[in-house]
Amino acid sequence: MFTAGELPVPPALGLAIVACMDSRIDLFALLGLHLGEAHVIRNAGGLVTDDVLRSLALSQSLLQTRETMVIQHTGCGLHGDEEHLRRRVAEATGAHPPWPLGAFDDVEASVLRQLEILRSAPGLVEDQSARGFVYEVETGRLREVG
Ligand SMILES: [Zn+2]
Repeated sequence: MFTAGELPVPPALGLAIVACMDSRIDLFALLGLHLGEAHVIRNAGGLVTDDVLRSLALSQSLLQTRETMVIQHTGCGLHGDEEHLRRRVAEATGAHPPWPLGAFDDVEASVLRQLEILRSAPGLVEDQSARGFVYEVETGRLREVG
């Protein structure tokens, strides 16, 4: 019988997760999460973009999340050079992407950068806390950064 519809809307752990969309990362298994426990916001790279900030503002303001985890990973498709990545997208689509793709050289530095963006972003609650992690696709290990 389907019962998940009876779960409260606010995430039970007060947690929001920003993570890369990489198909090799099973966030629920990795973190031992169940339905109803966390908001999961995923995009290419696990970057704190304006749209992620929009979702977090709603998550925090209306649904009482206070802790944010940022999870990026080794072997990410965004690891490398922005111009190279832009050329590849332009070749495949016939158009230059109108937004930054968000390539990065160093995954740890990128996680720290996302935490900086989170901590200085307007529109988020004051008592939020944020932690950053790198998931190692080679080992399945999650390690904290910073
Ligand atoms: Zn990735």
